[in-house]
Amino acid sequence: MYYLKCGYCAEHSALKSEYITFCDHCGKKFSSNYADWKLQHPNSTFAAYEIEVGVPEARYEAIMKKRNRQGFDLRKKAALITTVVVLIACSTVGAYYGPTLVKLFQEPVVPVAMLNTENWRTFRGNILQLQTPLSLSPVSVKDEPNIRLKAFKGGSTGEGLVIRMDEVVYLANNYIGLELASKEAANQLSRGEGISQFTYVEKNVVIMGQQAILQHGSYIYKQSSPIEFNSLIVVKGGTRVQLLVAHRGNDETGKKIAEKVMGSARLN
Ligand SMILES: [Zn+2]
Repeated sequence: MYYLKCGYCAEHSALKSEYITFCDHCGKKFSSNYADWKLQHPNSTFAAYEIEVGVPEARYEAIMKKRNRQGFDLRKKAALITTVVVLIACSTVGAYYGPTLVKLFQEPVVPVAMLNTENWRTFRGNILQLQTPLSLSPVSVKDEPNIRLKAFKGGSTGEGLVIRMDEVVYLANNYIGLELASKEAANQLSRGEGISQFTYVEKNVVIMGQQAILQHGSYIYKQSSPIEFNSLIVVKGGTRVQLLVAHRGNDETGKKIAEKVMGSARLN
């Protein structure tokens, strides 16, 4: 894996695909993004770009290691004291409220800076487009019999925010009903790894004159993290599209971002 160093905040973002255009940390556009580089190097490849512009894995790890070491020396004393205090606090709280509350401290919240829509970008799927603070990259998904799947994702549960678009093409049907599509999308989500106590409500909405269903719900991830989600289901012919935004259960910034992303959805 190669990394791109941000010219604004000097943080590194993983070059997961050629679509990485914006910094994962501050959301600013990379001056050295692949699309712009490609214009100047029309005969070159993504692999050549990674070597010329990217920071190799080994160098990235060396930078992180050095940074951690420096930080540790400076903060060693304070951190040790804090750890002891937190450990005592957590074990006391944990004894009363169980592991849920303790785990709550570990799940990150969405940084407030992400609300600044100036740094947002358009993501265009085959049927639906939206505005998003995170770059969405293709996710590899296995097709099922008579079904073609395509998925794009930005962020992760570990980062406090997931934005995902799933396109499901039913090859044997040239029409599928919206209600059924909505139930299937919810079923699929509820069966995801580590998901329990899945619950949701749904309402009908209209996007550019077309019926759609908006689901709002919650679940517990890995027995300990409350997650909230919004899911928009749109159907066109035999294709079902699901736009999903998930964030930590009690995260106000996450809620606002989810609302904005859902509100930005348009049909192509
Ligand atoms: Zn940055």
